[in-house]
Amino acid sequence: MSLNSALVKQQVYINGAWADADSGQTIAVANPATGESIGTIPYCGRSETARAIAAAEAAFPAWKALTAEARADFMHKLCDAVMDQLDDLAVLLTTEMGKPLAEAKGEITLGVKYIRFFAEEGKRIYGDTIPSPWADRRILVTKEPVGVVASITPWNFPNSMIARKLGAALASGCTMVMKPAEFTPYSALIYGLVADKIGLPAGVLNIVTGDAPAIGEEMCENPAVRKITFTGSTRVGKLLAANAGKNMKKISMELGGNAPFIVFDDADLDRAANGAIASKFRNSGQTCVCANRFYVQAGVYDAFAEKLKSAMAEQLTVGNGLEDGVTQGPLINEAAVEKVAAHVQDALDKGGTLVTGGHRPDRTGTYFEPTLVTGASQDMKVAHDETFGPLAALFKFDTEDEAIKLANDTEYGLACYFYAQDLGRCFRVMEALQYGLVGVNEGVITTEVAPFGGFKESGIGNEGSKYGLDDYLNIKYSCLGGLGM
Ligand code: NAP
Repeated sequence: MSLNSALVKQQVYINGAWADADSGQTIAVANPATGESIGTIPYCGRSETARAIAAAEAAFPAWKALTAEARADFMHKLCDAVMDQLDDLAVLLTTEMGKPLAEAKGEITLGVKYIRFFAEEGKRIYGDTIPSPWADRRILVTKEPVGVVASITPWNFPNSMIARKLGAALASGCTMVMKPAEFTPYSALIYGLVADKIGLPAGVLNIVTGDAPAIGEEMCENPAVRKITFTGSTRVGKLLAANAGKNMKKISMELGGNAPFIVFDDADLDRAANGAIASKFRNSGQTCVCANRFYVQAGVYDAFAEKLKSAMAEQLTVGNGLEDGVTQGPLINEAAVEKVAAHVQDALDKGGTLVTGGHRPDRTGTYFEPTLVTGASQDMKVAHDETFGPLAALFKFDTEDEAIKLANDTEYGLACYFYAQDLGRCFRVMEALQYGLVGVNEGVITTEVAPFGGFKESGIGNEGSKYGLDDYLNIKYSCLGGLGM
């Protein structure tokens, strides 16, 4: 399970060629489990980004002109090339991001499923004919790729966040410039390696790394870019949306969350405890759909807390993600550890009780123990701010209405979860929750066939599913006149 150094590509990919930054500057990339250096990446800015955009613009007409089947062939070959190296790519992802190897493999496999799904969905980009109000004219509706798409993605899913954008872009006939997160660039740059390997036409896919604000500005201001697709924090999403808006570009925004996880008194508590583990502690709590606030009905509060504590003890093991049996890798960096520690301390200062965890383990690397706090209240940071780490805080409630009100009391609206058995309650609560994704008696619900998108400040647009192509397409109305009828 050693790192395959051929996959650590330390250059950017522009117009089918590998390059350094114009300035020659680089940024270091380190393994969060050990602090050891993995390599460097070019510190590019606007000029390299402009060249990547120009390459994508030049490649667009020919890529658009291919049949959907020909584009799908390229996409399936790209997926085959990824799957051929799954084990090595998983080691690379774990080494730069920290998540356990099994999760890394799962993420890459899901990324491939997104690309394969869109490869086939691209063959179903149907148009329409509309009954004409004029006897001598006909109305046709067709869909066309928007053009060059620019993407910016985060470090927590360094492969699959890219895959679901890349799949939709390539299938719809768009070309792409992408900028991955500085902490996890190599899992993105491997797409350049596989593009080379399968002979993807130069310019269809370009990858730049470096100065995020400068790259973002070029993407938002360059007239050749017709769409910005972003996954990351709400703060940066708002900046990009405002800037893209000045030039009337299409946008898709997959932003932050603050997911409630509600356990009603008629819930199957064992199922709820297992769902809580999956939802809260996957990727050490660093997912945008992570349960952040656990609302538990008074009658089952103590029993659920006990079950969750036991499940945490039985199922969670902290360590280097490359080691067997580890389920909780390091957090991405020191700042992430400090944020979790601050949320824990704030909860304890405001009357919470520490049930388990609560500290940094005594080892090198940016680790934090899986933590359970009971007696949480709405004045705590964890109630309003995404912890993005392994802290489960349990709040108590009495009535269904109260739970819904508390769950919706946030500017976010990405994912939410609840556990209940009564069918009427399931429908009432499902319909009342103001979230784009609702897990009913399920803690992990992401799949390429279903839409993924947030309400409120969690974003705009959807990724995955048949809806995931919409934002990459323009609708064109053509009126055929003079038909002489
Ligand atoms: P982030 O700070 O917003 O960074 C995300 C990306 O934006 C990175 O590539 C970053 O580049 C880039 N960036 C930062 N500042 C920028 C600027 N001024 N202009 C242009 N790009 C800029 O978020 P993060 O901390 O990496 O990721 C965690 C956040 O993402 C959480 O809030 C999480 O909920 C959210 N997320 C949402 C989803 C979803 O689907 N809704 C999925 C995953 C994560 P550098 O890395 O180079 O700084």
